[in-house]
Amino acid sequence: QIQFADDMQEFTKFPTKTGRRSLSRSISQSSTDSYSSAASYTDSSDDEVSPREKQQTNSKGSSNFCVKNIKQAEFGRREIEIAEQDMSALISLRKRAQGEKPLAGAKIVGCTHITAQTAVSGCLFGGPGMGHQLFHWEERQSSAKPCNPRDVPVLAGVAVFAWKGESEDDFWWCIDRCVNVDGWQANMILDDGGDLTHWVYKKYPSVFKKIRGIVEESVTGVHRLYQLSKAGKLCVPAMNVNDSVTKQKFDNLYCCRESILDGLKRTTDVMFGGKQVVVCGYGEVGKGCCAALKALGAIVYVTEIDPICALQACMDGFRVVKLSEVIRQVDVVITCTGNKNVVTREHLDRMKNSCIVCNMGHSNTEIDVTSLRMPELTWERVRSQVDHVIWPDGKRVVLLAEGRLLNLSCSTVPTFVLSITATTQALALIELYNAPEGRYKQDVYLLPKKMDEYVASLHLPSFDAHLTELTDDQAKYLGLNKNGPFKPNYY
Ligand code: NAD
Repeated sequence: QIQFADDMQEFTKFPTKTGRRSLSRSISQSSTDSYSSAASYTDSSDDEVSPREKQQTNSKGSSNFCVKNIKQAEFGRREIEIAEQDMSALISLRKRAQGEKPLAGAKIVGCTHITAQTAVSGCLFGGPGMGHQLFHWEERQSSAKPCNPRDVPVLAGVAVFAWKGESEDDFWWCIDRCVNVDGWQANMILDDGGDLTHWVYKKYPSVFKKIRGIVEESVTGVHRLYQLSKAGKLCVPAMNVNDSVTKQKFDNLYCCRESILDGLKRTTDVMFGGKQVVVCGYGEVGKGCCAALKALGAIVYVTEIDPICALQACMDGFRVVKLSEVIRQVDVVITCTGNKNVVTREHLDRMKNSCIVCNMGHSNTEIDVTSLRMPELTWERVRSQVDHVIWPDGKRVVLLAEGRLLNLSCSTVPTFVLSITATTQALALIELYNAPEGRYKQDVYLLPKKMDEYVASLHLPSFDAHLTELTDDQAKYLGLNKNGPFKPNYY
């Protein structure tokens, strides 16, 4: 076993697992429900023995993995099959890849959350003609429901090192097991949070001699890459998948439009019709939340600092107010600003009894939760992810997920959204791996617009949507290539 005690010191300045998770968007636990029936298959010694101590072999005779219980692979397979049903674009990419083999020879090491959906993309990368990869996949920590191992990627030729409830030491051990492999060296990195990239930089910098590129998915990881690039320390090209148009639109707007209601319902069983809700921030996330709440008959107020977004809110039929103007009357407060201390102790003091407070924006900064951890207030955990904070006069404020992201902590992320992210990642890998020398330098790049458009077009058949083709004359008139890109990069 590898001891990383010394290294941990070094990592104190680096985002923790929890911090990184809360920013990252590849999380879903939608596939955990049907596992309740799997309890009888769980070895009772499961939780007593660390997976690091267990000797496990999969049906192919391989022991090159570390998961909680390989015997549950069949349940994982079923969950993956369910996920595949709403990931048809990824499946069609997989079929195409089997013919064209765009990643033949690629050796991918990846680090992401393990879910049925990420397993679908894991199987894609590990499939025939797609190279080989080692994946450190991790389970989410703040799960509202029990999680179960999903071991199918092991069977699909992808070595997975991950289990729910990993300690910090386990976490880095798993990453190390994926990087430091006898007779195998990665030539591509697929990262989600920057931890894997960071580990390779610190422990195995020579690995970069063979790496053709890094694909990074999270806000935090992308931020780190830009820092490295600015300091002249980035030694391979990197693709910023987080800021791809398709990812931004779907993750922020459409995903939040669906998951805000899911998160609130699961935690509070609240009925939205006629409820007064204030949404702080009318960016992509705020727009999604407002649209969903309005559709269910809630009376929605918006707070904004930006006149353009404020005007958009007005045009969409929302009252734009200051938080202090409505704080006494609202039933629900939702933050979506990416900012800090948007809801302060003063606001919390003035809220009415039973007001629900939650965050859909930036990790855990938007609500000043620290100000609630004072001796005069009592905390009562009423459900998983639901706390009643009780004032001396008996008033209760319902705080969800302790101010962390509501949807990531308490609900599921729609599979379809993850299909878009995974397809974007796959194309970014293919692009970096196949790019001729010189196309990408040691810098951070956005996926070419045309590829973003391709990701979208792969998802259109799910809706039987039929695109109109430009005529030659129209293309000339608009100054466009008939095959795209159709919009400028900033669009
Ligand atoms: P955005 O920049 O489009 O929107 C944020 C809006 O908040 C802006 O219009 C800004 O003017 C406004 N704002 C800033 N400070 C404010 C304040 N004090 N009061 C009122 N309004 C204020 O960003 P976005 O894409 O909507 O993302 C917002 C946050 O949500 C980010 O931190 C992002 O990382 C996070 N996010 C969460 C999820 C999720 O699943 N919960 C998904 C994607 C993004």
